[in-house]
Amino acid sequence: MKSIQVNVPGGPENLQLVDIPTPKPGPGQALVRLAASGVNFIDIYFRTGLYKADLPITIGSEGAGTVEAVGEGVTEVAPGDRVAYAMARGSYAEYAVVPAAQLVKIPAHLDFQSAAAAMLQGMTAHYLTHSTFALKPGDTCLVHAAAGGAGGLIVQMAKNLGARVLGTVSTAEKAQIARVSGADEVILYTECEFDVEARRLTGGRGVDVVYDSVGKTTFEKSLNALRPRGTLALFGQSSGSVPPIDPAILAKGSLFLTRPGLPHYLLTREELLWRAGEVLDAIDAGKLRLRIDRTYPLADAAVAHRDLESRKTAGKLLLAIG
Ligand code: NDP
Repeated sequence: MKSIQVNVPGGPENLQLVDIPTPKPGPGQALVRLAASGVNFIDIYFRTGLYKADLPITIGSEGAGTVEAVGEGVTEVAPGDRVAYAMARGSYAEYAVVPAAQLVKIPAHLDFQSAAAAMLQGMTAHYLTHSTFALKPGDTCLVHAAAGGAGGLIVQMAKNLGARVLGTVSTAEKAQIARVSGADEVILYTECEFDVEARRLTGGRGVDVVYDSVGKTTFEKSLNALRPRGTLALFGQSSGSVPPIDPAILAKGSLFLTRPGLPHYLLTREELLWRAGEVLDAIDAGKLRLRIDRTYPLADAAVAHRDLESRKTAGKLLLAIG
């Protein structure tokens, strides 16, 4: 089967299209014939070596396709089932072996590309808005990169939960995309101080929570934008990792800082089925809109990585495989 592997961590050019034997599912595993794979920043971090794994690495952490075979003891899915998953590595490939407990069945009306686009960023938006800081009507949140893959879904879920949403973006075109997603106010954080603007827009109080996927360039101002006892959910680092901090920085508002990750919000199969079920059903029902920005053939994975890193994309990037 064809797959995209990294033998030496580095730039997009280190993503190599190789032919390797199709894997066999072991106990508790299923072999999935992939139709689509999501492209995510986590794939870039495994490619560059920021996140470590044994080499060679088959890249890709999100996919959708059809169960081809199952290993011993699998009860969650059966051959022929249409399934999707996130956070099992190896989805830039024609086939992937995935722990069956991580697979969810795709609703009948949803296509593979939508399902692949929904899982990782959709469940991330779900845990951030429903669990990390559970939004309710009357709350105000600040969402960075509000036209991005995760950001665009956070904006929509926050609005569905009744919150007021301030979004940051880098360009006027992205501002329009964030508004279409439902952002009440959009701040061009490349042209003004977003913390000052967030305070102005909240009458000086500050926001209840900042969902920050940008990291290095936004971290300090995200803290400044919070109300007393507000929460900074730092869930990514698209601009680079935040340097070490002195915890006393939180004393300015008795602030809460968390660095959440999706696996810790999918601790049981019940939790996975709850989050994935709500995300996929919301898409099926038209309450959550996916913005698939670009789709590439498997062989063009390096182009997809360059595009995602270039800051020019707005929404989901996918590899169409099957
Ligand atoms: P996005 O679609 O949001 O793309 C990244 C966006 O970040 C850009 O479009 C850009 O938006 C903004 N950005 C700001 N500075 C930079 C920069 N220097 N270089 C590139 N982009 C920049 O990506 P994702 O939604 O896929 O992921 C965003 C982050 O969230 C990643 O770090 C990812 O790993 C993390 N993440 C974490 C998860 C978790 O559970 N912890 C789960 C999912 C994602 P603009 O032009 O508007 O500034």
